[in-house]
Amino acid sequence: MLDLISFLRLWIRGAAFDGLSPAEICREVNEVALPAVAGKARLPLRARFYLAVRGFYPVITLKTCRWGPIAFYLVRCREHGLYLDYPHGYDECFICPRCLRESAITRILEDIGLKPEEFMSPDGISWQKILALDEGEAYSLIISRLSEATKE
Ligand SMILES: [Zn+2]
Repeated sequence: MLDLISFLRLWIRGAAFDGLSPAEICREVNEVALPAVAGKARLPLRARFYLAVRGFYPVITLKTCRWGPIAFYLVRCREHGLYLDYPHGYDECFICPRCLRESAITRILEDIGLKPEEFMSPDGISWQKILALDEGEAYSLIISRLSEATKE
């Protein structure tokens, strides 16, 4: 069997060829591809080393006629294990989809009918930053952004 990195490269290329966006590719990999090969595909030593030391490992950089170049990384969440992502925002952070889903802030946004990616602000306030705030700070940030957004 292929090692995990080679498998992901093939999968990502195929998905990009099928016309998926980078976000859709990550979602498919995280929900379908990674669970399908969990415990079966071997991680090369180099990737294991990088994941242990830095927490992420470059898988492939791709450019299609509609997007890119985008660098996809395998990232390790201490809580949930491995996931695929590309850097977000000006501070180029990675966001574990399961951490995001579980966060209280996400639930609040969903309650008021907003998707997290819609809230990802153009001025670069990333989810990672919002999630790192304590709840009170996060609420006031969200409220100030919402009142800005409804001013126009
Ligand atoms: Zn996580």
